[in-house]
Amino acid sequence: MSTLTSSASLPEVRLWLGEKKSQDGSGGVFDHVNPTTGRVQARVPLAGAAEVAEAVEASAAAFPAWRGLRPDQRRDALLRLGALILQNEPELTRIAALENGSPVIGGPRYVRLAVNWLTYYAGWADKLQGSVSGSFVQGTDFTYSQPEPYGVIGAIITWNVPLASLCMKVVPALAAGNTVVVKPSEFTPFTAEMFARLAEEAGLPAGAITVVPGTAAAGQALVAHPKVQKISFTGGPATARKILATCGEHLKPSVMELGGKSANIIFADADLDKAAAETIRMGLSALSGQACILGSRVLVQDPVYDEVVAKLVAAAEALPVGDPSQPGVLFGPVIDKAAQQRILGVIDQAREDGSGKLATGGRPVGGDLANGSFVEPTIFTDVDPAGPLAQNEVFGPVISVMRFGTDDEAVAIANGTEFGLAAYIHSRDVTRVHGIADRLEAGTVYVNGAAVVQPWTPFGGQGESGFGREGGYQGIAEFIRPKTVAIAPLR
Ligand code: NAD
Repeated sequence: MSTLTSSASLPEVRLWLGEKKSQDGSGGVFDHVNPTTGRVQARVPLAGAAEVAEAVEASAAAFPAWRGLRPDQRRDALLRLGALILQNEPELTRIAALENGSPVIGGPRYVRLAVNWLTYYAGWADKLQGSVSGSFVQGTDFTYSQPEPYGVIGAIITWNVPLASLCMKVVPALAAGNTVVVKPSEFTPFTAEMFARLAEEAGLPAGAITVVPGTAAAGQALVAHPKVQKISFTGGPATARKILATCGEHLKPSVMELGGKSANIIFADADLDKAAAETIRMGLSALSGQACILGSRVLVQDPVYDEVVAKLVAAAEALPVGDPSQPGVLFGPVIDKAAQQRILGVIDQAREDGSGKLATGGRPVGGDLANGSFVEPTIFTDVDPAGPLAQNEVFGPVISVMRFGTDDEAVAIANGTEFGLAAYIHSRDVTRVHGIADRLEAGTVYVNGAAVVQPWTPFGGQGESGFGREGGYQGIAEFIRPKTVAIAPLR
C-alpha cells in the first residue's frame, strides 16, 4: 500500500468580502490537486471581477475606522494575530504540505519566520513619526509632515511561501493604517483562509483584510479598481509587466517583488563543506528550488572546482525526497504537473543545446511518487554563463555550476544577468568579501550562510527582480505617503 498522505481535511475556502463570506465566486471553481499524489483534494471557489469589486468596497468602507484606531490598538490586534498563528503552527504546517508540497520538517521554521515579520511590523504601528521642517522661530512658515496611509492596498501574492508573503505585505500595510485586499494564488487558498480566520479571531474588524482567491483575472480586476490606491505584488516579471501596464493607466504606484537567478560565489579560501551544504540548501532543496532568492547560479573558483562539484553532487543525491507530510523528508514536489513538465523541458533543452553537462538528476521521480509532480534534485556543471540555463529563472530544483578564476571574472559573471535580487559569497577573506559585496548588483548579499530574509533588513531587487522593498523601515514606508502642512505666521 502507498505510504503517501491521503487528502486529510483542509479548511473550507471562502471569499472574505467584509461582513460577508461567500462559498461561491463568479471566477468559477478550481480543482485543487495535491502535488504529492496528483489527486484532486478540494474544490475551491474563485473570485471574479464582481467579488473583487465587493471586497474593495468593503475594504474602503473599513478604512476610516481602522485608520482611526490608536496605533497601540492596531499594534495589539496584529500581535494577537501573531500569537494565534503561532498557536496554529502545527495546523499551518500540515496544510502547507498538502497545499504546495512544503516539507513539514521546515514548517515550524517558516511559521516562526512569518510571525517574526508580523511582530516586527506590529511594533512599527506605534513608532511611525512625522517631521517638522520649518518653524516660526526660524522665521519660516511652520511646516510639518505626517505619515498617512494610502487607503486600500491590493496585495497579489504567489504560492511558494504564502504565510510569509502575507506577513511581509499585509501586516506592514495594516500597521500603517491601510486596509488590504489580498489576492492569493489559486494554488494556496487554504493558508490565506486560515490567515483570514485567525485575523477575525484576533479581533481585526471585518473589511480590514478581505481575501479573494482567484486567477489572473481576479488579480487584473484588483489592479484596475479605482479605489485600490497601491499594489504590492510578488510573482514573475512577465506578470509584473501586465500589472504595471494597468498601473500606468491609473497612475497607480506599486511594489514589485519578482524573480531571481542569484549568483552563489564560492572562493577557494571558503569553508568548502559549509559552502557546499549551504549551496544545496539555499540553491536547490529549499521549497524544491521554488524560491525567488535561491542561489541557483553557482560560481566556483578554479582550484576547488572539482572538489566542490563532488560535494554538491553527493549532497544532492543524499537529499531525502518524498511525501512532504512525512517527517524526515526534506525535498517535496514542485507545485503542479505543468511546472514539472516545464522544468523537465528546461533540463532536456540544456542537455540538447550543450549549455551545461548533467551531473545528477534530470528526471521525474518514479515509484510511489510517480503520480506527484516531483523532479529529481538536478545539477548541471560546466554551464555556459551566457547560455539560457544560466540566464533564465528555472523556479525548480536545478542549479548551474560554472567556473571562474579571478575576482573580476566572478563579479562579471555574477552581474551578467538581467536579475538583481540576491547574491551569496563564501570566503574567509573579509577584505575580499566587502569588496565583492560592494560590486555585486543585487538587493541583498548573504555571506557564509547568513540567515536570509530577516524582517529587520530591507529585501527586494533591481532590474528584472523588481523594485521597492519589504523589510525594515523601508517595508512600512511603502505603505505611507507623507502629507505636509505649512502654516503661515499670523503676522
Ligand atoms: P505569477 O507572476 O504567474 O503569479 C503571481 C500572482 O499573480 C498569482 O497570484 C497570480 O494569480 C497573479 N497574476 C497572474 N497574472 C496576473 C495579472 N495579469 N494581473 C494580476 N495578477 C496576476 O508568478 P508565479 O509563477 O505564481 O510565481 C513565481 C514567480 O514569483 C517567480 O518568478 C519567483 O521568483 C517570483 N517570486 C518572487 C518573490 C520575491 O519576493 N521577490 C517571492 C516569491 C516568488
